[in-house]
Amino acid sequence: MAPQRSRVGRRLSLVIPMHNEVAGLDVLFERLQAVTPALGVALEIVCVDDGSRDGTLDALRVRAAADPRVRVVALSRNFGKEAALTAGLEAATGDVVVPLDADLQDPPELIGEFLALWEQGYDVVYGVRADRSSDSLAKRTTAGLFYRLFNRLSDYPIPDSAGDFRLMDRAVVEALKRLPERNRFMKGLFSWVGFRQAGVPYVRPARAAGESRWSYRKLGRFALDGLTAFTTAPLRVWTGVGVVAALVAVAAALFLIGRVLIVGRDVPGYASLMVVVLFAFALQMIALGILGEYVGRMYQEVKQRPTYLVRERIGFED
Ligand code: UDP
Ligand code: MG
Repeated sequence: MAPQRSRVGRRLSLVIPMHNEVAGLDVLFERLQAVTPALGVALEIVCVDDGSRDGTLDALRVRAAADPRVRVVALSRNFGKEAALTAGLEAATGDVVVPLDADLQDPPELIGEFLALWEQGYDVVYGVRADRSSDSLAKRTTAGLFYRLFNRLSDYPIPDSAGDFRLMDRAVVEALKRLPERNRFMKGLFSWVGFRQAGVPYVRPARAAGESRWSYRKLGRFALDGLTAFTTAPLRVWTGVGVVAALVAVAAALFLIGRVLIVGRDVPGYASLMVVVLFAFALQMIALGILGEYVGRMYQEVKQRPTYLVRERIGFED
């Protein structure tokens, strides 16, 4: 493809959510300093401090004072990565925006390739993890299952093994900013907005410092957030389950009545009765629980609370 856009005179915003990342901050900025000058664009580094308790904000303050390209949005407490990312995207002013993990698991060396594809006309260029060997086997398996399930159920498939690491044109960022929902399942929203998208494979390295901020409990909740935000299939499936159960019940009733008419009355049957009652009860509880998952999230949305609150903005012109 012939170039459709040029990076000359454009500004790139890096958006970096940070929760207790002070240990890796020096390495991060060193790597950015090594990579970004060759990109040929003006740079803005939007760091979102997501309620860190380890001095991340103070370290960022020092950086921002020394370097006008560094801007800091400090949230009033820990709101979670999706909210921090949303805050960063809303604060970013660049013509192209790249969200980046602070732990260098999203290699900044890839941004050059992203930019080249953007110049060719793609609005979204996302990194695709070629292998996930840096993740544990358990995490890989559960993640794989989740993506398979999500893509079967949702109308807006998430590209396989794509994360938040991507380059977005200003138009895409503006589209994301218009989405009013509080449940920010970014991977799903990235897919929902559409535009011309391309993937670039890369090998995801292990964390540069510290440990993953995600526990399995958090990941489980995250998976539920994603599924409920992008498909109502878990709600609708109960209609089918109910119809099948009703058909089975009618068949069983006909069989039992027929047997009484032919063989005569049959008093024992406690075991089969209990099995049916318990099974039906369990199904109803599951159905109610799933209903609860949706109703609870609707309650969160209806309250219209902001996705995040800002305590302080550092280095912005306004
Ligand atoms: N993060 C955040 N708020 C949180 C948890 C994480 O801003 O509540 C940031 C974190 O500092 C990092 C990025 O999100 O820059 C990815 O987090 P992490 O590396 O723990 O996730 P993983 O790579 O294990 O998916
Ligand atoms: Mg990480």
